[in-house]
Amino acid sequence: MVLEFRKGAIFVDELRNVSIKIGEITEEEEEWAPMGPTPFPQIETLRDWDFTLLKRYKPFYAPYCDMCCLCTMGKCDLTENKRGACGISLEAQTGRIVDIAVAIGTACHTGHARHMLHDIEHITGKKLEEIPVDLGPEISEVAPLTQLITGIKPKTLADLERALTYVEEQIVQVMDAIHTGQEGSYLDFESKAFHLGMMDSLGKEIADIAQIVAFNLPKGESNQPLIELGMGVLDRNKAIVLVIGHHAPPALNIADYIENNKLGDEVELAGICCTAHDMSRYWPKAKIAGSLGRQLKVVRAGLADIIVIDEQCIRADILYHAGKLGIPVLCTNAKAMHALPDMTKKDPKEVIKYLLDGNPGAVVLDPLKVGEIAVEVARARRKKRGEIKPVLTEEQFMSYAKACTQCGTCTIACPQKIRIGEAMEAAEKGDRKVLEEKWDVCITCGRCEQVCPKNIPIIDMFNYAAWNRILNEKGKVRRGRGPVRDSEIRNVGAPIVLGTIPGIIAVVGCSNYPNGTKDAYTIVNEFASRNYIVVTTGCMAMDCGLYKDEEGKTVYEKYKDDFDGGGVVNIGSCVSNAHIHGAAIKVARIFAMRNIRANYEEIADYILNRVGACGVAWGAYSQKAASIATGVNRLGIPVVVGPHGSKYRRAFLGRPYNDEDWMVYDVRSGQKVRIEPAPQDLLVAAETIEEAIPLIAKLCFRPNDTDKGRAIKLTHYIDLSLKYLGRMPDDWHLYVRTETDLPLAKREE
Ligand code: SF4
Ligand code: SF4
Ligand code: SF4
Repeated sequence: MVLEFRKGAIFVDELRNVSIKIGEITEEEEEWAPMGPTPFPQIETLRDWDFTLLKRYKPFYAPYCDMCCLCTMGKCDLTENKRGACGISLEAQTGRIVDIAVAIGTACHTGHARHMLHDIEHITGKKLEEIPVDLGPEISEVAPLTQLITGIKPKTLADLERALTYVEEQIVQVMDAIHTGQEGSYLDFESKAFHLGMMDSLGKEIADIAQIVAFNLPKGESNQPLIELGMGVLDRNKAIVLVIGHHAPPALNIADYIENNKLGDEVELAGICCTAHDMSRYWPKAKIAGSLGRQLKVVRAGLADIIVIDEQCIRADILYHAGKLGIPVLCTNAKAMHALPDMTKKDPKEVIKYLLDGNPGAVVLDPLKVGEIAVEVARARRKKRGEIKPVLTEEQFMSYAKACTQCGTCTIACPQKIRIGEAMEAAEKGDRKVLEEKWDVCITCGRCEQVCPKNIPIIDMFNYAAWNRILNEKGKVRRGRGPVRDSEIRNVGAPIVLGTIPGIIAVVGCSNYPNGTKDAYTIVNEFASRNYIVVTTGCMAMDCGLYKDEEGKTVYEKYKDDFDGGGVVNIGSCVSNAHIHGAAIKVARIFAMRNIRANYEEIADYILNRVGACGVAWGAYSQKAASIATGVNRLGIPVVVGPHGSKYRRAFLGRPYNDEDWMVYDVRSGQKVRIEPAPQDLLVAAETIEEAIPLIAKLCFRPNDTDKGRAIKLTHYIDLSLKYLGRMPDDWHLYVRTETDLPLAKREE
C-alpha cells in the first residue's frame, strides 16, 4: 500500500514492526501557467503534428547504401523495391538509418547533460536542489524548451534532472523501436526521428543551463568581451595547454589553476571545438585555436605542450598524431579513453611524472585534478622545448614535393577533391601559393595520407606552405552569451512576426565546409548587413570571426551584440543552440501571449507560420548535427545544409506546385485557403554558397508576413539572387499575394 502525503504531519501511536521508506519528496508544481495538452510527450503523442509536417515536407531519400546488414538474416539487397528478410523496404530502412544517426546525436548531447550534472555536484559540493535556475532579472522564461515539452518551469537543477530522466527514457524507447521486427513505415521512423530531435533540443537546454548557473557563465548580457581566435593568437613562448572537445568542467579547472597560481604570464590555455567556447564563457583570457576543421592542423603544427581531451569531435587517432610529436594526451572523460591507463585515483604528482617520462597519455576522470596535471606537464615540457617551428625542414618539404608523382590517388580519396598532386608540382617548381590557398579548404581528415603511395605527410606539407598564414591567423569571436533576454524578445517580437525584420538566421554547427572557412563569414556578413538578426554557435561562430573587413573589423566588431535587426550574437557552444529554439518559443510566449506550458504542437505551428527563422549548418558533419537539425525542424524552423549534408541521406522538401500541400484554414473566415509555399522546405542541401544565400532568404518567408514585411523579404530574396546567381529567382511571383507585397522597384515595372 502506498500512502501519499503532500503536506502536514502524521502521528502513529505505538508503532511496531512497521518499516517506513521515504522516497523522493516532490513539491507541488507551481502553477506558472495552465497545464497544456502534452506534458512529457511520448513517442506517439505528437505523431499527428509530425504527419502534418511530413505530408507537406515529404522526406526525399538519397540512400547512401541500398543494402542492409544489421542482422544475421542479411545482408539484404533492398534495390528495385525488394524487401529485406525481415520485410523492411528501402525507404523504411533509410528512415531507420536516419533514426540511428539522430539517436546517436541525441544520446551524445543527453549523455553530456547527465555528465554535467554529476560534475557539478562533484565540483561545487552542492546537491542539485541547492542550485537555483536563475538567469537574472531580464529572463523570466528560464527554460523555454523544458517548459514547452515537459510543463516544468525549473527552479533548481533538480527540476532539470527530472526532465533529463524523461529524455533518457525516450531515447531508450525509440532505440527499442529501431530493433529489427518493430517499426515498418518510413513515416513512423521519421516521426520517431522528430521525437528524438526534440529530446536532443531538451538535452542541450539542460546541459547549457546547468553549466550557466553552476559556473556563472554569462546569462544573456549584450556586449560580451571579444575572445582571441585563430592559430596565430597562441603565444608560442608560453607553455600551451590545448583542450579539445565539448565538456568544459576539466578545462574550467585548468583555468582556475592558472588563475589561482598566477601563471597567466607563463601558461596559455587554448581550445578547439565547443570546450573552447565554454571555457572562454567562464574565463575570457582563454583563447580559441580554431574549429573542428583545424584540429589536425593545430596538433600537427605542434602547437601544444599537452593535449587535454574530453568528449565529442576528438579524432580517434589523436594519440597517433600527438605521439609523433611527443605531445602527451590527458583523457578526462570516460567516453574517450583511448586504451590509456586510468590514473584517476593516483596523486596528481605521480601522473605528472608519468606523463613527463615519455608515456603517451593517461586517463584522469576527476575534473578537479586536471588543472594541476595539465598545467604542470605543459610548464615542464615548455622548459625543455625550443621555439615552435614547422615540423618539416625546407629540404624535407622540397624532397616530398619532388617525390610526388601526381598520381591523383589522394584527390580521389579527398572529400574536398583538392588537386594535391598539382599543388605539389607547383611547390616543386617554387610556387607554394596553391598549397597555401588549399590549406584552408582542407578539413584535415587525413584520408589523402592514408592512400599516398609515396607516404607523403600531406598535412605537414600544407602547414609548411601556409606557415606565415598560420602565424597571422588572428581573429576575434564574441564570448558566447547563452540565452536571449525576454526584454530583447519584447522589442523584436512584432517586427519578426510582421516581417519587417526579415528573419532570424541561425548560423550553427560544424566546419565540414565545401570550400573553406570564408563561407561562414560571407553568410554572417551578408545577412547582418541586411538587418536580419544573426545568431551563431559552435564551429561556425568561430570561423566567421577569422575574417576582417576593409577597416580591420571582424563581424563581431562590425555589428552590435544584440538580438535585434543587424545584430550578430554568439550564443555559445553546440548545447547553447537550445537558446535559439528558446528565442523562437519566447516570441510566441512574450509577443503573442501564447501558453507555452506543455503545448508543443500549437507553438510549433505558430513558429512554422509566423516566425521567419532559418538555420544554416553549412559544414554539418556529425550525428549531433543530424539530431540538432531534426529537433529544429519539428519546431517548425527550416534548415539549409552544405553539400556534404546530402550524406545525411534525406531532405524534407516541399512541393510548391502541389495545391493540396498548402491548404490551411483561415481563422477569420473559417474557409480553407491556399497559401504561398512558405517556408518552402524544411531541410535542404545547397550545392554552392551562391545557391545557399538566396535560398536562406527565401526560407524566411512566412504566410503571416504583413505586406510591408513581405515586400522587404522579397526585396532581399530578389537582390541576393541577382547578386549571387546573376538572375531573377524564377519563383518570386509565388510569394506575391497582392500588389502591396511587391518590392517598391517592382511596382513601377
Ligand atoms: S534487419 Fe532486415 S533488412 Fe537488415 S539484414 Fe536483417 S533482415 Fe535484412
Ligand atoms: S586531409 Fe585535406 S587534403 Fe587530405 S583528404 Fe582530407 S581534406 Fe583532402
Ligand atoms: S597520392 Fe601522394 S604521390 Fe599521388 S598525387 Fe597525392 S601526394 Fe602525390
